[in-house]
Amino acid sequence: MSDLFEKIVSLSKRRGFIFQSSEVYGGLSATYDYGPLGVELKRNVSQRWWNSMVYKHSNISGLDASILMHPSVWKASGHVDAFNDPLIDDKTSKMRYRADQLIEGHIEKLRRKGKDEEADRVYQALVDALNAEDMAKGLYEVIMAEEIRSPDSGMFDWTEVRQFNLMFDTHAGPVKSTDNKIYLRPETAQGIFVNFHNVRETGRHQVPFGIAQIGKAFRNEIVARQFIFRMREFEQMEMQYFVKPGSQMEAFEAWREERMQWHVDNGIRASKLRWHEHEKLAHYADAAFDIQYEFPIGWQEVEGIHSRTDFDLKAHQEHSGKKMEYFDPQTNEKYLPFVVETSAGLDRTILTLLCEAYREEEVDGDTRLVMKFHPKLAPITVALFPLVKKDGMPEMAKKLQSDLQEHFLAVYDEKGAIGRRYRRMDEVGTPYCVTIDGESTSDGTVTVRDRDTMEQVRIPAEKVASYMIESIANWKP
Ligand code: ATP
Repeated sequence: MSDLFEKIVSLSKRRGFIFQSSEVYGGLSATYDYGPLGVELKRNVSQRWWNSMVYKHSNISGLDASILMHPSVWKASGHVDAFNDPLIDDKTSKMRYRADQLIEGHIEKLRRKGKDEEADRVYQALVDALNAEDMAKGLYEVIMAEEIRSPDSGMFDWTEVRQFNLMFDTHAGPVKSTDNKIYLRPETAQGIFVNFHNVRETGRHQVPFGIAQIGKAFRNEIVARQFIFRMREFEQMEMQYFVKPGSQMEAFEAWREERMQWHVDNGIRASKLRWHEHEKLAHYADAAFDIQYEFPIGWQEVEGIHSRTDFDLKAHQEHSGKKMEYFDPQTNEKYLPFVVETSAGLDRTILTLLCEAYREEEVDGDTRLVMKFHPKLAPITVALFPLVKKDGMPEMAKKLQSDLQEHFLAVYDEKGAIGRRYRRMDEVGTPYCVTIDGESTSDGTVTVRDRDTMEQVRIPAEKVASYMIESIANWKP
């Protein structure tokens, strides 16, 4: 893990953003709990996504489908037969890797050494292997031909590449048998497809329209050692947009643009985001691009924009025997709509924000650790400090806190020197700190300190809310 990544993991635990799940029992690998500040950040991000999809588009409705679904759903979607990852084991260290990621890591290494030609050649071999009939064999051959060594032991002592299904399964009811085997959903999308007609009819939608959903998904990931980047239980924010066949590329381009802008508007510098075209299109897709962010562990996917054709509706129509077609009242045609989906990871978005916000700054010979979250996403928006614990200052600070709590998460802190209180709030990314001093109790003014510039302004207490609203609206990363 990189230095910066380790610092982010440690801050997350120390300040209550994210904890390892079941830590008192030694932890459960690749599962995490959001602490008091993490849950605020997560709620702010998911609310922002929801608003940008459902509130801002009158032709998009929301849905909250169940995690457990009829097992035929996963047969129809192709997950039972093909939701596999290729895995390979280092026989010496017993560490398990995803074969495609091992090769990608090797290519990155070649590029870092300036061996671009060799990297291009291996990349082409990877693309060929991913598209080969027997993908596992193809990947194994690349690893052998390039003599790719294990990142942990440095050995070249591999097992064969095997395919491994990522779905978690369980049983419904008291008896465990193959008849009642069900799955924890590995993506939220299928809940949307099977509800296509329900939402269309009740929402009185005509194509084009969309269905948006935020919810948990589960994948038995082989390699999960990168904090909340790759979890076995995670949350997705997905929107499936149903269009007339033939118009999918237009919708695809429009959604690509809108989704990239959403990440920029989360306060992510544009230079840290890029597009990545899929090397291998999934069996159902006719175009697929990922939005990648430059994490301390390298450029990685945060969101996928996929043009999924009519694959899913057609598959559910075939497997369920129920018509999934749409009757277009304008043209009197009947067709299966095509789908463009935007599929973002909520946890990965949180990780981009943690990585992007983390700053260490030199201030008066000291290091100031400050999380520069976009103020509209910061877990705590404002902190109220009485300068001293007497002379009416705590009462005035608490009164202002309760006024601000109508609109913001506002916290009260009277412990320690003011400088230390500022630093505590900087570390969790609180954009505004309001201090109530002796002048405040006599003339009603308070000082508002800005997290980023550390400058203070003195304004009447009743103007604090409007000051903050204006400052949040004008904030730039
Ligand atoms: P990867 O190639 O990283 O395994 P994917 O291409 O399988 O990801 P999708 O199926 O397109 O991912 O899922 C959409 C989004 O869900 C991803 O962009 C990512 O943000 C999120 N996601 C997928 N798997 C995980 C996971 N194991 N942990 C956290 N987020 C995930």
